[in-house]
Amino acid sequence: MLYQSFLIKYAEIGTKGKNRFLFEDALVSHICHALKRVDGRFDVTKDAGRIYVTALTDYDYEDVVEALKMVFGIAWICPMFQTGEKDFELLKRQTVDYLAQVYPDRHKTFKVVARRADKRYPVPSEQMNRDLGEAILDAYPEMRVNVHEPDILLRFEVRANVVNIYSEMIPGPGGMPVGTNGKALLLLSGGIDSPVAGYMVARRGVKIDAVYFHAPPYTSERAKQKVVDLAKLVARYSGPVDLHVVNFTEIQMTIYEKCPHEELTIIMRRYMMRIAERIAAETGSLALVTGESIGQVASQTVQSLAATNDVCSLPVFRPVIAFDKQEIIDISEKIGTYETSILPYEDCCTIFVAKHPVTKPVLKAIRKSEEKLAGMIEELVETAVSAREVIRCG
Ligand code: ATP
Ligand code: MG
Repeated sequence: MLYQSFLIKYAEIGTKGKNRFLFEDALVSHICHALKRVDGRFDVTKDAGRIYVTALTDYDYEDVVEALKMVFGIAWICPMFQTGEKDFELLKRQTVDYLAQVYPDRHKTFKVVARRADKRYPVPSEQMNRDLGEAILDAYPEMRVNVHEPDILLRFEVRANVVNIYSEMIPGPGGMPVGTNGKALLLLSGGIDSPVAGYMVARRGVKIDAVYFHAPPYTSERAKQKVVDLAKLVARYSGPVDLHVVNFTEIQMTIYEKCPHEELTIIMRRYMMRIAERIAAETGSLALVTGESIGQVASQTVQSLAATNDVCSLPVFRPVIAFDKQEIIDISEKIGTYETSILPYEDCCTIFVAKHPVTKPVLKAIRKSEEKLAGMIEELVETAVSAREVIRCG
């Protein structure tokens, strides 16, 4: 076990004024939760603008870093050596040992940067830089100082009771701790875009629930399982996701029977939004999230998006709205949802899709078509909402 602990640096949450402790506490709790997935026991503590993860047992370094990389709010993960000793001569020896352990090959350039948060420490920062540098050069003549572009930037943080020594900084996912920014309901299909959209909104600190519109027997159990799997993958970052599975078959069939086929997709999308708003109201979500992107398909032209949005009263977040497909794919690969998203199971929207769907729907015409559903659709919506299945994912 090379490192006994990690220094966790956060960026944005440091700027939240007197609510800062709420952000820090949320971050500590998410770190604890993420570490439950790895072997070993850990102590997670906060201390004056710093969060420390300390290993209490043996652990696998890669597993811990991998888990921490999924915790929103972490800007940097710094594996470190921590010493409680105030004796400067001892600190020099510990520094020399640190380099021996962390850098078996010491043909490298370095720079020492010491900062005293605790000014009572007897050695001023400038002198720490010089003296520690000298101690390193004495021990390892093969090393060289380079203050502009060092291979190793060796940092010392002198705090009230400890000195932190670290030189590795691994980027975290950024963002804010989940749950510090309310809750939203993600419309999660089996595609590439919606899991990415959920990830992006969760990264801003928003807790995520999800809704999936399932149309058995036109869509199979395997298609549903794929959405459950995607929800679990998103949940690795966002924390547990409640997935609401709505049976959409009757509604879809009714629209298919009563409305012009070229308007089917838009009308279906409007009913998805209406039902999503009902579920959001019941479960405390304050916004909807979709994976829509301008121009991607007929139902995502600006006119179509406007026609879909027409039925919504909640804010609809569309984080990938202006992304090219390839940019969305890049994110889905990075977050690990791509392989699951491309599994070839049918989607409820594709089965009834018209050969020539409208790309420039006229709102008045769409509303008129929907009038043909009056008297029967209300009850179908009611049943779909009340009979939904809720699956806890993650
Ligand atoms: P994705 O790649 O995310 O599946 P898509 O390419 O299938 O999207 P559309 O079918 O137009 O695109 O759907 C646009 C958005 O509507 C999706 O990103 C998702 O948020 C929502 N959506 C579509 N179908 C469903 C469904 N069956 N259940 C839940 N949400 C859906
Ligand atoms: Mg899409």
